[in-house]
Amino acid sequence: MAESQQSYLLELWDNNICPNCGQRIPEGTRVGSGKKSEGGFCRLSCYGEYYSIEIVERARKVSAQRRDTANPEESGSEGAVKREFTIPAGY
Ligand SMILES: [Zn+2]
Repeated sequence: MAESQQSYLLELWDNNICPNCGQRIPEGTRVGSGKKSEGGFCRLSCYGEYYSIEIVERARKVSAQRRDTANPEESGSEGAVKREFTIPAGY
């Protein structure tokens, strides 16, 4: 999935199109991380927006994964620590 996104960004870079707003990027105004694989954007706000959405989606995925794999701990162990004296029966 990450690979297809990267080729998408490369394609848009070659076509001078902003991956965030889809507008044409005027020559010499492209902004981004400087890495072609991370895309070029028409404005800094587009760059920020694009990656903040990415981050939000990533965080959502991570939290969904955590929910799936979380093994619920036994509750009620806290505060239940009390000394018990057991008297053996039958003596
Ligand atoms: Zn843009």
